[in-house]
Amino acid sequence: MHLQQSENRLIVQAPAKLNLSLRILARRPDGFHEIETVMVSIQHYDTLSFAPSSQVDISFRFEDLTYHSLAAATHSSTVETAVVPQDHTNLVVRAALLLKEYANVNYGAEILLQKRIPAAAGLAGGSSDAAATLAALNQLWNLRLNLQELSQLASRLGSDIPFFLCGKPIAVCRGRGEIIEPVELQEKLWFVVAKPQAGLSTALVYRHCQPTQDSPSIAPLLSNLANGDQISAAHALHNGLQAAAVELCPAIRQLESTFANLDVIAHQMSGSGTAYFGWCRSETAAQTAAQQLTHLGLAQVFVACSGL
Ligand code: ATP
Repeated sequence: MHLQQSENRLIVQAPAKLNLSLRILARRPDGFHEIETVMVSIQHYDTLSFAPSSQVDISFRFEDLTYHSLAAATHSSTVETAVVPQDHTNLVVRAALLLKEYANVNYGAEILLQKRIPAAAGLAGGSSDAAATLAALNQLWNLRLNLQELSQLASRLGSDIPFFLCGKPIAVCRGRGEIIEPVELQEKLWFVVAKPQAGLSTALVYRHCQPTQDSPSIAPLLSNLANGDQISAAHALHNGLQAAAVELCPAIRQLESTFANLDVIAHQMSGSGTAYFGWCRSETAAQTAAQQLTHLGLAQVFVACSGL
């Protein structure tokens, strides 16, 4: 996440994430799942802008810059797109109100969210927006909360949010996702990402998955990444939610077979889907695969490298 001061505004680029490994270990008594996941942030961003306000309220504006909104504007109503709430239920407003209450803040803020990350995609756009909001308002309101306090607040809103606060492009996340162990990355990783028109609800996919302790260990992925051996690392991709998501959304099966014919090192779904990605040898290889996917007209497609 990058925070940048522009006159009296703070501009934040909130990245998407991919799951290189996602192990669903067990169902917990609290209703969540015990997971172990390797998450990487990628340079495909929502942009948020924060300005001080003379009012005590949080004012929130939303601009949809996703491919789907552009397609819907020019074509007909056949686009099936997840609805991002534009009221107080948006994670941005929820994060702002939670911070305001926690820190007993008496002033408000004007927030603009420009959305590029597709929703209900397993790319954690909403979580990243919430993390950006906590970090930016902590600065704008001069609250000086430390990372631990912000992360505790974040985990009350969603399990993926603390990862985006940790400031590292790649980390192992455990518990329900909120226990973060950053990992050093030797070099940039390149990906091609495809999002079908259909989206999936995270809760629904979790309800349909089968937890297991027998899924592949993350150790080979991490050791090969540490040695700069991307080819071996990519062959250790795993997603314990993919089988359930494929049952719920046939478009993912179509992406599985399409990616099998592309020049990518390895491929799988991200998070609870429906976004699907290929790990590529280079930026050029990723661009070539993106052109082929776009040509097939299957999905919204973009190329992104790992975050900084
Ligand atoms: P994850 O990988 O964390 O499950 P996701 O990509 O599947 O994330 P998100 O786009 O983060 O899903 O959001 C899931 C749902 O949350 C959306 O369908 C939407 O209804 C709601 N939501 C609330 N605030 C936001 C936001 N700022 N951006 C996107 N979705 C939001």
